[in-house]
Amino acid sequence: MPAADVLVVGGGPAGCVAAWEAAAAGAGHVLLVERDRAIGAPVRCGEGVGSAGLREFLDPDGAPWVSRRISKVIFWAPDDTEVVLAGEDVGYILDRTRFEPALAERASGAGAEVRISTEAVGIEREDGRWRVTLRGPQGDETWTTRVVIGADGVETMVGRWAGLDTRVAARHMASMAQYIVGNIAFDPDAIYMQFGPSVAPGGYAWIFPKGVGIANVGLGVVALRSDGRSARQYLDDYVRRHFPDGTVTAMTVGGVITSPTLRRTFGDGILLAGDAAHMINPLSGGGIVAAMKAGRLAGRHAARAIREGDTSARNLSAYRDDWMRLLGDAHELYYRLKETIDKFDDDFFNRLARTVNRIPLEKRTLARVVTSALVHHPALLPVAAQLFVQEFC
Ligand code: FAD
Repeated sequence: MPAADVLVVGGGPAGCVAAWEAAAAGAGHVLLVERDRAIGAPVRCGEGVGSAGLREFLDPDGAPWVSRRISKVIFWAPDDTEVVLAGEDVGYILDRTRFEPALAERASGAGAEVRISTEAVGIEREDGRWRVTLRGPQGDETWTTRVVIGADGVETMVGRWAGLDTRVAARHMASMAQYIVGNIAFDPDAIYMQFGPSVAPGGYAWIFPKGVGIANVGLGVVALRSDGRSARQYLDDYVRRHFPDGTVTAMTVGGVITSPTLRRTFGDGILLAGDAAHMINPLSGGGIVAAMKAGRLAGRHAARAIREGDTSARNLSAYRDDWMRLLGDAHELYYRLKETIDKFDDDFFNRLARTVNRIPLEKRTLARVVTSALVHHPALLPVAAQLFVQEFC
């Protein structure tokens, strides 16, 4: 029976970085399997990432997997009042069909084996190891491994197979719909976000430029908060209103989990990373950088546990502790903030936009916008204070 030391399920950002880090940390034979025919495709994502987080992994300057460099964030209130936040190096819109292959190349460069068109269809615990059944072009094959890293995304099965509770409450699942829309006018150096229950209840709408005149235009909706329309119907109305002459050339739908990290992201010989472990920023719905950071931790902890000859849940629990310190605690904070913001009506956002526009552009920061939003909600002032600390310290 073929054997790996670490078997990573899923070739998204979490899985590629987990395989990269595990191999680089000397975990032994690292196997990464991706069920789709290509790493990075199909794309179900707005592809926006913050600059600082991205730069921890790859250098975006001149990289072929960057669609657009972003230097501005523009918020639209429900009544279209515009609030501009400007910065030098805000972030990037990726081309994920090329970005994830670049990560997979790093994994294979560090010594990991990468297999596409290969799906994990079941795992079983036996004699202190996992037996993983893989379904590939040549049929089924069973591998043994010391550590499985489940990086299999929002619909994770690996966690469930391992007996971890990965259930998601309906109120924590946002349905996303996105079009690529061409032939439209907007600032190609800015990302746009529009909040308000009439626009996208429980979520927000976004315009993320892929180039001049072409953008990912999408929105997320929590079904329990909607007026009965689906995310796609909200999006159709949105595009009709803002870009009646735009040309829609592609569509994608998907789910984003807006609850904080799972209580248990580890077990005997198993770690979950990225969307599979609900490691998405609940406020922004951004999960790419979080998935990479989780993958890095998972890969390192897997390698450490193998080195120590102890892949028990007890020894791997340090992975969750490290994650909570790194981002998990912040996600709890964003979750609480989102719960409050979700209660605001359109009028609140319209008034907020006008208040924030009174702050001079050079002094406008995300933390200041949030603080303005919270002025009338004193119970949340400690949250605003913590955001300030995160932004400035
Ligand atoms: P994924 O990227 O989902 O990767 C999981 C991989 O595992 C997939 O390739 C899948 O094919 C594979 N897989 C699953 N099961 C198996 C199996 N059994 N065997 C083998 N392979 C398997 N985040 C941002 O940061 N910025 C954005 O702009 C943004 N926009 C979004 C827009 C939409 C419409 C949606 C739905 C999400 C968006 N997100 C965004 C979230 C982001 O896409 C995810 O958080 C991120 O992709 C998580 O990475 P991951 O590696 O955990 O999972």
